[in-house]
Amino acid sequence: MMLIDTHCHLYLSKYDYDLKEVVDRAMMSGVKKIFLPAIDSETHERLLKLADKQLTAPNGTAISKADFEILPTMGVHPCSIKENFEEELAIAHAHLTSGRKFYAVGEIGLDYYWDVTHKEQQIRALERQIEWSIEMNLPIVIHSRNSTADCIHVLRQYEGRAKGIFHCFSGSVDEAREITQLGFYLGIGGVITYKTSDLKDVIAKIGLKNIVLETDAPYLTPLPHRGKRNEPSYIKLVCAAIAQSLNKDMDRVAQITSENALTVFQMNS
Ligand SMILES: [Zn+2]
Ligand SMILES: [Zn+2]
Repeated sequence: MMLIDTHCHLYLSKYDYDLKEVVDRAMMSGVKKIFLPAIDSETHERLLKLADKQLTAPNGTAISKADFEILPTMGVHPCSIKENFEEELAIAHAHLTSGRKFYAVGEIGLDYYWDVTHKEQQIRALERQIEWSIEMNLPIVIHSRNSTADCIHVLRQYEGRAKGIFHCFSGSVDEAREITQLGFYLGIGGVITYKTSDLKDVIAKIGLKNIVLETDAPYLTPLPHRGKRNEPSYIKLVCAAIAQSLNKDMDRVAQITSENALTVFQMNS
């Protein structure tokens, strides 16, 4: 089984003391690729360091990229858009144009849950970063919280040019259809395992065509581990919940969502 975690903050300090074990468990669970979404300049260096890390298999032998790899994206998270957002954008842009390979511009978006003080700046930063992605021919990873209508409104301006993943999707069937009609994939994570979530019904209605899997680790831990730190090996719990809602087997869900992930990150050749 090949699983791809399209969204995992494995570079955060929560994994400092047991990163090797966490990565081993991911490999043993069938995870072949982990994409690292960026947050801001406080953690960009940690992200790049992890992406450059020489990894070994659980038995200590060297591993090839076909077996397992950790891949960087770059951007400024909406919660990090403050007064100094121009500086943050300049730093992310410098990384994106440094010659190093990045797989997406992300995570970028709008977050009205924590703070709406810099709403205007968030929108401007989102538009600017979408424009970079179009210039660089990269997908985007969208973070949206209490802001789906505004995010969709911004994406409409770039219809047919911007593409990517609407990460941690937890909206309605109508929103799912609107987003996928814009050519976007929906990142589905641990929320689907929560009893109060409608996501299973949404997936049952829209199918797998535009679905990719993610953990958003260390956040949004799926059941039965909710309340503890999330990790990429738990992606199989997300896969199982989707399989259950569609009455399909897990292998099939893993295969289709992994193909979708390779497509959106332009790694299908
Ligand atoms: Zn996010
Ligand atoms: Zn994230």
